[in-house]
Amino acid sequence: MQRILNYINGQLVESASGACLDNFEPATGKVYSLVPDSNETDVDRAVAAAQCAFPEWSRTPAAKRSQILCRVAELIERDLERLALAECVDNGKPLTLARSLDIPRAATNLRFFGTAVLHTASECHPMDETALNYTLRKPRGIAGVISPWNLPLYLFTWKVAPALACGNTVVAKPSEITPMTAFLLSELCRQAGLPPGVLNIVHGRGQTAGAAIVRHPRINTIAFTGGTVTGREIARTAAPMFKKVGLELGGKNPNIIFADADSEVTVRESLRAAFANQGQICLCGSRVFVERPAYESFVERFVSAARTLRVGDPLEPDTDQGALVSAAHRDKVLSYLQLARDEGGTIRCGGGPAAPPNDRCRGGYFVEPTVITDLPVDCRVNREEIFGPVVTITPFTSEDEVVEYANGTDYGLSASLWTRDVARAHRVADRINSGTVWVNCWLLRDLRVPFGGMKSSGVGREGGQEAIRFFTEPKNVCVRVAE
Ligand code: NDP
Repeated sequence: MQRILNYINGQLVESASGACLDNFEPATGKVYSLVPDSNETDVDRAVAAAQCAFPEWSRTPAAKRSQILCRVAELIERDLERLALAECVDNGKPLTLARSLDIPRAATNLRFFGTAVLHTASECHPMDETALNYTLRKPRGIAGVISPWNLPLYLFTWKVAPALACGNTVVAKPSEITPMTAFLLSELCRQAGLPPGVLNIVHGRGQTAGAAIVRHPRINTIAFTGGTVTGREIARTAAPMFKKVGLELGGKNPNIIFADADSEVTVRESLRAAFANQGQICLCGSRVFVERPAYESFVERFVSAARTLRVGDPLEPDTDQGALVSAAHRDKVLSYLQLARDEGGTIRCGGGPAAPPNDRCRGGYFVEPTVITDLPVDCRVNREEIFGPVVTITPFTSEDEVVEYANGTDYGLSASLWTRDVARAHRVADRINSGTVWVNCWLLRDLRVPFGGMKSSGVGREGGQEAIRFFTEPKNVCVRVAE
């Protein structure tokens, strides 16, 4: 059986204790590899390596750092098929999605941040004839990066790339449920000539390896993507240590459809927003609100489109919906389907586990794409993040009403709205409390814009210059120029 290894000081090594965890293939429910069950000792070793590598890496010219990160991006592109297959097997998502979204985006992250650092300016504030103040942005030291399982390599590189590009060294932990692509990345980093200790990858559980990263006194920056409950725990540990913390957390994103919107496009794109990656994207539009005159026809068309989604073996090219990531997560999603019934919802399609698509996938974690109507807007199913192929549809009659619905959860990550009325688009976008509002589109990402959430969806912004600011420390130098 394949053994995943930690990547510490440029070497691929077992965990200090030798202990391993089973790594399951979600489509089959079978163990297919072993992951190091790392603990504090492994994190200490990774931090020691990162500390040793920091002086030289932080002084390495930006052009050289850029060259290495762009080389890693090239190697990801060279190995796209191998990485996409690994991510599909590890995560349960359709191979076609891993190939078209996750892996290309991981390469883009490395290239984007690898080149962004070549174009960043430092600020200068002249004080008339008296003095010049200039601000340098220095790497902060060792960054701890903790990432989730839903878009494993994509979200891992979203944090690792800017941290390294800015001259920090990194100790990173991918989700223990989906460790394979980060493991393969460590091999590519070696091939690309990334110096030992610059990036260290420690595999293992959140409560042990993850928590050891968060509380380590020599790690002064924590970049985390994951659930809101974990984010709260991280904030509690990091705050008294005065660490700089960026939290990209959960979402319960509204998808607002006005009656004047193009009905064909809204059905097609709302379907994608609801069910892409089996609904396991923090930006999925899981609450659809439709203006009353268009409601009945939208529900009818949306439900028939959802029924055509093919739940299948993730390896098959015509699969639309793969497996959920784990048995525990499938059970959580199914418990929300029961809750929806208890809360008075009407299940328009789906509503339970999906039949295994073939013999190979007999033990897999498949759930039917599910559409629910007739739920009160403030019920738990409409407020809590389910993170599965489950969407609710609710009618509305006015802008005021839908803005209240949209803002009526603790989350504020993203929203979509669909209308041909430009003035209304601007008006409503302005009133929605979320970090991103898409108008007549969904998941159209420009990596230069600040990305992150409001309220319980997170703290801080990343992406573009925000990430460069996050991973650097401003240092002001005031030079008196007057006699
Ligand atoms: P979790 O919060 O459970 O885990 C995220 C990472 O944190 C994992 O690597 C996990 O390790 C680790 N972890 C868990 N407990 C601790 C701890 N006490 N200290 C340090 N690290 C810990 O999230 P999921 O992996 O379940 O990911 C899904 C969540 O991520 C959803 O809520 C989703 O909305 C959110 N997300 C947010 C995004 C955004 O940009 N805002 C993007 C993508 C996802 P382990 O896996 O071993 O438990």
